Amino acid sequence: MKVVMIGAGYVGLVSGACFSEFGVEVACVDKDANRIRDLIEGRIPIYEPGLEDLVRDNSKAGRLSFSTDLNAAMAGAEAVFIAVGTPSRRGDGHADLSYVYQAAREIAATLTGYTVIVTKSTVPVGTGRRVAEIIREVRPDAQFDVVSNPEFLREGSAINDFMRPDRIVIGTETERARDVMRRLYRPLYLIETPIVFTGLETSELIKYAANSFLATKITFINEIADLCEKVGADVHDVARGIGLDGRIGRKFLHPGPGFGGSCFPKDTLALVRTAQEADAPLRIIEQVVASNDARKVSMVSRVTNAVGGNVRGKTIAVLGLTFKPNTDDMRDSPSLVILPRLLEQGAKVRAFDPEGMGEARKQMPDVDYCGSAEDAMSGADCLLLLTEWNEFRALDPRRIKALLGKPVVVDLRNVYNPAEMRAAGLTYTSVGRPAGS
Ligand code: NAD
Repeated sequence: MKVVMIGAGYVGLVSGACFSEFGVEVACVDKDANRIRDLIEGRIPIYEPGLEDLVRDNSKAGRLSFSTDLNAAMAGAEAVFIAVGTPSRRGDGHADLSYVYQAAREIAATLTGYTVIVTKSTVPVGTGRRVAEIIREVRPDAQFDVVSNPEFLREGSAINDFMRPDRIVIGTETERARDVMRRLYRPLYLIETPIVFTGLETSELIKYAANSFLATKITFINEIADLCEKVGADVHDVARGIGLDGRIGRKFLHPGPGFGGSCFPKDTLALVRTAQEADAPLRIIEQVVASNDARKVSMVSRVTNAVGGNVRGKTIAVLGLTFKPNTDDMRDSPSLVILPRLLEQGAKVRAFDPEGMGEARKQMPDVDYCGSAEDAMSGADCLLLLTEWNEFRALDPRRIKALLGKPVVVDLRNVYNPAEMRAAGLTYTSVGRPAGS
């Protein structure tokens, strides 16, 4: 079986490499010639644990190839996946579908026999039907079906998520397309992964509903954390106390500086817009978006308060810039809201992140980027822990105290034990835990 993957980004590259690991012949096509050249030469353009080996092994085995030439790649393909970006459209928050529609036009021009066209990108309800219309406009003679197959992998654990998903969602109307998808996902079917077959619209909505629900859970616990601080409760105990209830579940109940990343912010906003247009407003999700935006901004005052009310002239050491550990993805990271505000208020910001500094440099050139966590902390007036990379989880509190100029730590991921930090002589602020704990 052969498939084509359009877009060799976080989703396309991981999905393509994983399908090839299942034994499928995969041609990854991207418009970005530099990216394709890197991949052909064995360089992986993104940071994702395990991806380099998977790409190398399957390229060597001849099952995975890279090209900028869609027409040539399509020869003999039974399915073509659209895995291009769907960022927020500037101004209104709708998903920008221009890359998806462009890919559809390009696919149309290459179709020969019956082909399944799969949208793996996260796309609003109705997009699959529009993709079919575009293809029919360009090629009225083409034989094809459109399938919605949203992707649920998480950056940082993408390969495992793809290989062992909780479920696969496939939206299509024809048995013929369903059969192609079944054969493609056969290795997962064999390990009894549930496959949810639906219509196109339902499948498209499942992805947005899932992400919005998870974003709601995070926002819920963040607001509970704020309340905990006011009333002397501990948010971790609250999370455990509610999460052990099987109806609630323990995951996604960790408080922090607000959700970021390439999916939740844009997907919650796009779902809000879809719902408003459909005259079925999702008021809960509207509040989630507003609460999360406000939360990122409000994190700045935690730093200001920790250093005595004003950051002007103070040096803030920031550990972690990406929206979560184990990725180099900086899209919509809380750091992009917090750091520029600290700089605006006159702070000097020294930062270190294991993988995010390349992209961060482009977006925040006024930050002083350091070679290590210790380098960033040296002589600083405050340590701000923003992303819980493993290497920031086990710093010795006494060493932190010795390195900092002033013994002030703001931990927005609750990595450290408040009592231990205080015992080491540090003034420690975290999220949703009582002052004395
Ligand atoms: P990305 O920006 O990393 O990659 C997109 C790639 O598509 C880029 O390399 C770009 O050059 C290429 N591209 C765009 N138009 C093209 C065209 N016409 N032909 C060939 N290549 C083209 O994006 P991503 O993070 O992989 O996200 C892709 C989609 O998957 C989005 O809709 C996103 O919402 C969804 N998604 C992402 C994640 C995630 O964790 N990143 C998870 C699930 C779903």
